[in-house]
Order: sequence, then structure tokens, then C-alpha cells
Amino acid sequence: MLAWYDKEKRSLPWRENPTPYRVWISEIMLQQTRVEAVIGYYERFLNALPDILALARAPEEQLMKLWEGLGYYTRARNLQKAAQVMVHQYGGSFPRTYDEIRALPGIGDYTAGAVASIAFSLKYPAVDGNVLRVMTRLTADDGDISRPATKQRISSLLTRLLPGRVGDFNQSLMELGATVCVPNGSPACLVCPVREYCLGFFQGAPEDFPVKPRKKARTIEERTVFLLNTGERLALSKRPERGLLAGMWEIPNVLGTLSQEEAGQWALGQGFPQVRTQKRSSCRHIFSHVEWRMSVYQINVPTESNDFFWADRQQLRDSISLPSAFRPALEQWLPGKQPPSPEEKRLL
Ligand code: SF4
Repeated sequence: MLAWYDKEKRSLPWRENPTPYRVWISEIMLQQTRVEAVIGYYERFLNALPDILALARAPEEQLMKLWEGLGYYTRARNLQKAAQVMVHQYGGSFPRTYDEIRALPGIGDYTAGAVASIAFSLKYPAVDGNVLRVMTRLTADDGDISRPATKQRISSLLTRLLPGRVGDFNQSLMELGATVCVPNGSPACLVCPVREYCLGFFQGAPEDFPVKPRKKARTIEERTVFLLNTGERLALSKRPERGLLAGMWEIPNVLGTLSQEEAGQWALGQGFPQVRTQKRSSCRHIFSHVEWRMSVYQINVPTESNDFFWADRQQLRDSISLPSAFRPALEQWLPGKQPPSPEEKRLL
């Protein structure tokens, strides 16, 4: 695996100069996000917040803006909480033992293993989805990979196998899973460096592994989104501190599909003396467990009210981070870099 990795590894920015901070940021970004998508975010993030202290002190809006588009914003919040712990408890440095790393906010077994092995050469495995796939195929392990016992079994096996270059070994397994022993479709067994040890290959159906639980059907949620605006500014509100998109900005919305008249009534109910309501294109957004189907209304109002935060176009483009779920709706009010349309001005 090491010989194969030395020859075949992709050149990725976090693999150059793998300091604990750089490895950690990349590992958190790579959770739930593809490598190609992460590279741009990673470089921007490292330029803006090059070290633990800068991350610990970053204003929330800057942090959210840097994370905008990556989703799962709790990851960004936990990054900052962990950086603050490092500043207060470890003098602004990364802790150097597995247990201390594992105890930081937002760090689970996998990330702790990855940082400990890659940045500190500590002998711990790093078992992510790629590694689980490779190992269950290699050993023809038909345990359900959502069960902790299966993960534990793979983890113990790897712990016994770890060689001296532990960081490179862990990365070689991840790399094999990402480029050769791929999910969704046939693995490229003919070019695999460990084919001669692979039980899944010899049994003739490596795609049968890993065994996963049946996915629950996604819940469909109908919503109505209101582009409530004065022509110059758009109303935003904050989401609750718990639950989906916790604490993020949102475009005001309610559950259910409202008619144009009902949307106007909703706005009047917010205390505006008069409103002009216009139906815009519907859109949808898919989260892991729920899908939002959104009807969108543009509602023009004569004045701002104190119940919302009113953001101008510049703020919406440059400093306010709005979750991707609301982007298609926002684009209808903020198309590209255009000033307000004559239609918008007329509606006022
Ligand atoms: Fe995966 Fe095929 Fe290699 Fe086995 S031989 S580890 S199934 S790519």
C-alpha cells in the first residue's frame, strides 16, 4: 500500500506541509464533501484564517461566509469552539495526544485518528467511509457498517496492521477507496495493489460490500418563502439555535404552500400597511433527511420593520452567509450582480 501510495497519490494542498491545523481543517471540510469541491474552500479558508488563533478570534459572519456552500454549518462552529479550547487550554497549540484531540468539539474517532496519525505519526487508524469500504471488501466482512461493532472490528484489525509510516498508510487506504475501490459501480480491481489479498475480489462480487442499512425515505416538506423587500433591502431572520441550519440567517418562510392571497395576508399580519405580492419560481433543496419544496413570493413593502434584519444587496453578496437552501430563491431577487430591475422598482 505504501509503495502504491508513493507512486499514485493525488497532489492535494493539505498533503503539502501537513501541520495539525492544516490536516484538521481539511479533514473537517472533507466530511460530506467531495475533494474537488473542497480545494477552493480550503485555500480560501487557510488564507483568511491561517492558524488556530485567527480561527478562534474570527467574527461569526466571516466564518460562516468562508463556509458558505459547504453546508453542515455546525462543522464550522465546532472548528471555532475547538480553536478556542486550544487557545485557552493548550496555549494556542494543537494537543499532542489522541485522547486530547478526540476530546475537542466536533472531532470524532475518524478525525482524531487522521490528525493523530498524519500530523503526529501516532499509531491510530482512521476509519472513514472509504476505509470501511476497502476493508469490508478485502475481508469480505458482511457486517452492517452502520453498527459500531463492525467499525470496531475493522478498527482493531487496522490497529494490528499499522506500519511505521502510519499517516501515509491511513491515507493510502483512503486514497484507494477514493480512486480505485470506489463506491457506486465496479471497483477497478485489475489495477488494485492489494487484489491478491482481497476476499471480496476472489468471491467474485466485491460490490456486495459494504453491507449498509436500508435508507429511510426522505421526508418532503412544503414551504413558502417570502422575498420581503423594500426594493433596496431584503428581510432576513435568524433560525432557531437548535435543529436544521441552527442559528443561520434565513429568508422568512412558513410551512405549507400558500396561495398568492395567503402570502399577502401573511405579510399584512407582520404589520405592514400595504403589500404588493408577486409569485416567483418554485425551487427545492435536498438535505440528507428532508427535502424542501419551496413556493416563492416576492412581497414588496413600503418600509422596513423592526421584526427583521434588512440586508442590502452588497451585504447579501459579500458578508452575509445564507444557506444554499435559500440561494435559488435569493437569486430571483438578486440576480447575478444586477441592480434592482425596473419591474422591482415599478412594484414599489
Ligand atoms: Fe477493492 Fe477490488 Fe482492490 Fe478488493 S481488489 S480492495 S474490491 S479494488
